[in-house]
Amino acid sequence: MEENAQNTIRLQHRVITRDAHAISRKDISPNALRVLYKLREGGFDAYLVGGAVRDLLIGGHPKDFDVATSATPDQVRSLFRNCRLIGRRFRLAHIMFGQEIIEVATFRANSDDGSGDRETEDGGRLLRDNVYGTIEDDAIRRDFTANALYYTVDDFSVRDYVGGFEDVNARVLKLIGDPDSRYREDPVRMLRAIRLAAKLNFTIDDSAAEPISRLASLVSDAPPARLFDECLKMFLSGHAEKSFLGLETHGLLNVLFPETAKALNTNSSGALRAMVLQALRNTDTRIAEGKPVTPAFLFAALLWPAYCRELAILQKTGVDSTVAQQRAADRVTLHQAERIALPRRFSLPMQEIWLLQSRFSQRVRKRVFRLLSHPRFRAAFDFLELRMSGAPEVAEDVAFWREAQIQSPEMLASRLDSKKTLHGSEPGDLSAAPKKRRRRKPRPSPQEATP
Ligand code: ATP
Ligand code: MG
Repeated sequence: MEENAQNTIRLQHRVITRDAHAISRKDISPNALRVLYKLREGGFDAYLVGGAVRDLLIGGHPKDFDVATSATPDQVRSLFRNCRLIGRRFRLAHIMFGQEIIEVATFRANSDDGSGDRETEDGGRLLRDNVYGTIEDDAIRRDFTANALYYTVDDFSVRDYVGGFEDVNARVLKLIGDPDSRYREDPVRMLRAIRLAAKLNFTIDDSAAEPISRLASLVSDAPPARLFDECLKMFLSGHAEKSFLGLETHGLLNVLFPETAKALNTNSSGALRAMVLQALRNTDTRIAEGKPVTPAFLFAALLWPAYCRELAILQKTGVDSTVAQQRAADRVTLHQAERIALPRRFSLPMQEIWLLQSRFSQRVRKRVFRLLSHPRFRAAFDFLELRMSGAPEVAEDVAFWREAQIQSPEMLASRLDSKKTLHGSEPGDLSAAPKKRRRRKPRPSPQEATP
């Protein structure tokens, strides 16, 4: 049964005055300040809260500014013209300033005295909680102490009810209340621990780290759409590699990507793991350079080990190789969807990236030109380059296609004609096993797609 965090937590009330912390108004979004002042003028309490306060204290740049207030959502709406109420599980107000949205949440309690609108299931997982409360209630229902600090424009102080200020200074993530029950209540908090530790360079306190491997399997109860969102935050915010290593260490990779985890365990050379880590490192670099990244490419890399494994199994049964590839791609996508809801607009290009890999060994003129003009060519080629880190035998294909992209069509055509006798339509190798020489057939046949 669920244990109430309030029973196990000692509340403090510490005011960290302006001269004792590093938050300056000039680092706060002007729109967030507008919201804070207007709520105050309306007679309500209002604070900047959560990640923004934490990030400002350590000199970071918050990506969003959240406000907590004593005003109810309807009261917030009556103060702001540019306000939209959203959310079912939590009723929230969004104040819109062009591109920027300031999220305003009413102080919420984590306990149910029967007066509110709250629902949990048997394991203690929260399904809905719209119980309004005091600022203290609001603080202790948050996940980590570092995330439960409140900044006010009354006197520019930070209010701390759970020891978060010290923990931010010590760069440590501690759960508020009893760790086991907080994770049971919302297993996604385990992923948040890994993600925030990676993002902030914080350590996870032993008390919050120890239960994770024990309770990891509960993450599979979380809605797949929420896990997809969490994955994007984990892998597309600039600390993908560190997050991945954290997931591995704490036994969460098995839960989020069961088939990839299985494939990595059985890949004794470690080549597949090296390739995944390289993909994540590249993603982090691209984000640091402000370049775009796509979930399709990311998931293609994260699930590539699973795809290779499935393909090898199917090929052993003697299925035609084009069929085997499509079937492996479908199976991996389908199984993964039980955990993480990867939308089709990402899973389809992901599959295309996989399926195009077998076509890079093509040297027949018509097929080379057809592949070059394929809309997914660039992504597939980048993926081929990535595979080189774990499968050096694709180096020759990488070199060929790198040049093919910059050569004039005439040059390329004559290069292909002169090389015809060397390459023919020899298939590529997806499995990182040594290439077998095959006799060239007079006409390209379905084996062109053989991985
Ligand atoms: P980021 O910088 O990545 O946005 P964040 O801590 O701001 O990190 P959000 O998801 O934006 O993360 O959440 C805002 C705040 O809401 C958190 O700081 C925390 O106080 C609270 N919160 C978010 N998720 C949970 C959760 N699962 N359980 C309890 N409190 C949560
Ligand atoms: Mg945030």
